Amino acid sequence: MKEKKVEVLIAGGGTAGVIAGIAAARNGAKTLIVDKQRCLGGQFTAGMQGAWVGFSDKDKIIVKGIAWELRDILKERGAIVDNDPETDVCYLYDTEVAKVVLDEVVAKEPDLEVFLDTSIVDVIQDGDKVEGLVVLSETELMAIRADVVIDCSGDAAVAAKAGAPFEIRPKEEIQPMSLIGKMAGVDMDRVRKYYEEHPPVKDSHVPPAWHDFRTFPGFMHFGLHDELEGVDLPEELEYLRSWLGIFTSTPNPGEVTINCSGAIESHSVAGFGERSEQEVFSQKCLYDVAEALRRYVPGFENAYLSAIASLLGIRESRRIIGDYKVTLDDFLAAREFPDSIGRGAMPAGAHTPDGITMYVYDLDPGKSMTIPYRCMLPKGKEGLIVAGRCVSYEAPVANCIRCMPQCMAMGEAAGVAAAIAVKTGTTPRGVDVSLLQKTLKDSGAII
Ligand SMILES: Cc1cc2nc3c(=O)[nH]c(=O)nc-3n(C[C@H](O)[C@H](O)[C@H](O)COP(=O)(O)OP(=O)(O)OC[C@H]3O[C@@H](n4cnc5c(N)ncnc54)[C@H](O)[C@@H]3O)c2cc1C
Repeated sequence: MKEKKVEVLIAGGGTAGVIAGIAAARNGAKTLIVDKQRCLGGQFTAGMQGAWVGFSDKDKIIVKGIAWELRDILKERGAIVDNDPETDVCYLYDTEVAKVVLDEVVAKEPDLEVFLDTSIVDVIQDGDKVEGLVVLSETELMAIRADVVIDCSGDAAVAAKAGAPFEIRPKEEIQPMSLIGKMAGVDMDRVRKYYEEHPPVKDSHVPPAWHDFRTFPGFMHFGLHDELEGVDLPEELEYLRSWLGIFTSTPNPGEVTINCSGAIESHSVAGFGERSEQEVFSQKCLYDVAEALRRYVPGFENAYLSAIASLLGIRESRRIIGDYKVTLDDFLAAREFPDSIGRGAMPAGAHTPDGITMYVYDLDPGKSMTIPYRCMLPKGKEGLIVAGRCVSYEAPVANCIRCMPQCMAMGEAAGVAAAIAVKTGTTPRGVDVSLLQKTLKDSGAII
């Protein structure tokens, strides 16, 4: 087996991981990112999310740092829509331009290396200390040793494989998955006019907190049943009536992102055949939704399904049990933790497993919850930090903490913490939190 040694090893170069890699390298650590996709960014790019939700507390910006740097670059290129960045809860960006921007930012870091198309298959450990990963490229294995490993796999794949404790809800309770797609050729003026005359925000499946997207810069609609009311659907499309659909414009003319959730009858960590079935089913659903829009919604007559994400959208899978578990009470109290490394203010809550509705807990404008460093440290394990949607929190906190700006803030903190651990010869748990916070603030992060 081939061998390699780095100081910081990032498992997964997705939303949190790519930022963790940049942060660790900027703070002087020889860093390597490993990802099984063909591009960096995970859900932020390959998942084609396109709606960056959670920079603002509806009064002011609460996330800056490297995420904000990316936003500025996208802005310069006309690849983002944020009418009032201070109060907009959502910035719509071009996921394809974002892929190239990430590559450019990463290429500027001499201490940062990337292995794409490379899967993590095992964890190297000495007792409870994680010391590296075994990865696979084509049919070749490599053992990569590191002083600190950061698990940014979204699924806590490394932590779980290392035997760290985690929680995962059963299929009947877990949030549904959604494959994201795009339609092009939409007559946006006609669509807007139609929705002005038929306001969609009355949709009964959507919680009031989401009706309040006053500053939302793009067109957005929930639910398909308004459009399909009175329409004689073929039997196989009947299921679409009850689906929750979120349609957002993009920075490109005539382009709309489709984010629908309905009953994908499988678990987010199912593998092999079951995984393939859900991929096939969710792809067919996108086609069905696009066809329904084309046939029944004014403005979509000449539109067509132009892209399907290369990465299935997983809202929820494993959450580690960390040194601290963020609770719903912490969110509702807009808790200020002493070891804060970032902030979140989007409504907490979740999509129901059937994909039909959402429940939320909202904060008043100007209020936000801090994210404690301890929720990123898996109980009982050394040498390992976790960042992204699989950190330690109660399930109902999900829709706040798993948003992309929050995952990026956690990624940045994890990268800085890992670099400090290497520099000061300590473990992630031994990192001086005040030094971590000072380093984050000095580089522009809001904590
Ligand atoms: C349908 C849906 C809608 C959403 N809507 C929004 C929204 O509107 N706004 C918002 O801000 N957020 C939204 N989110 C949430 C947000 O996109 C995610 O929570 C966030 O991007 C997760 O970031 P992450 O870094 O934890 O994981 P990811 O971005 O998924 O990154 C994980 C990376 O790890 C890699 N990886 C995993 N396992 C392995 C392995 N074994 N070997 C190698 N690589 C591996 C993956 O390839 C991936 O690149 C949505 C999510 C979904 C699914």
